[in-house]
Amino acid sequence: MENPELKFIGRIVSPATDSGALPMQGVGAQAHIFDEYSAALDDIDEHSHIWLLCWLHEADRDRLKVVPRRIKTASPPKGVFSLRSPVRPNPIGLTATRLLKREGNVLFLEHIDFIDGTPIVDIKPYSVGWDSIFSAGNNSTYATYAKMDVRDAYDDMLRQAANFHGDACIGTTLGMRAAYLAMNHFKCDLQTKSLKVTVAARGCIADAVQGSMQAGNKRFTRLEPPVGEIVFIKDDARLELTVTPTKFASVEAVLAAPDKEVFSRIAGESK
Ligand SMILES: [Zn+2]
Repeated sequence: MENPELKFIGRIVSPATDSGALPMQGVGAQAHIFDEYSAALDDIDEHSHIWLLCWLHEADRDRLKVVPRRIKTASPPKGVFSLRSPVRPNPIGLTATRLLKREGNVLFLEHIDFIDGTPIVDIKPYSVGWDSIFSAGNNSTYATYAKMDVRDAYDDMLRQAANFHGDACIGTTLGMRAAYLAMNHFKCDLQTKSLKVTVAARGCIADAVQGSMQAGNKRFTRLEPPVGEIVFIKDDARLELTVTPTKFASVEAVLAAPDKEVFSRIAGESK
């Protein structure tokens, strides 16, 4: 088995033609599966989400260390197996995506960061029980976000919050903003065990805070009524936020607003 033969099963059809210009969230795109593999698609629509594996035909296969995209300050390169960069010896791209619908041999997908024409290697169902490890951690997310443009960091964190909540609604975006503020206030990763939160806000906001922190019930407490109070506590320090959801008409408006508009009260004290 020195040289296993890879058979491409289809191609991506996407409005995106330049990988350098893709938004971090990806774009809506389709997987066109070749006729000879259409029987393999049967029953795929039993699943809301799928894993999509693609061959990143334009990728550099020679470098083993790169500086991650979106990092704006000078940083040392990282090993490609510690990154999701397309640069790698076997440029296989892997993404979990929502399967919006199937029409014949065409799968309609969201958040795809493969460019038009990318060959598809494989499709598997995404299993929420097997594939989502809620407690999994990535070290140094605080340091990584600190090196990114704020809007790129928001996009990245919003995707995680939306994955937990189900969609990127206004409430999810507000909860993400609260988590981002806490991360910078305490200068720590959001998964830090000593960082705890109490949320007295509606479900979408609470979900986003919990999903952003990957917090189980040792670190996350939900209180009623949902008055819009979020209190983060780490050791002796507190960050108290009051959020006013009714102010915003769109996710974009929340992303563009300064902290002082998103939160009617921001109070941080160290004892
Ligand atoms: Zn929601």
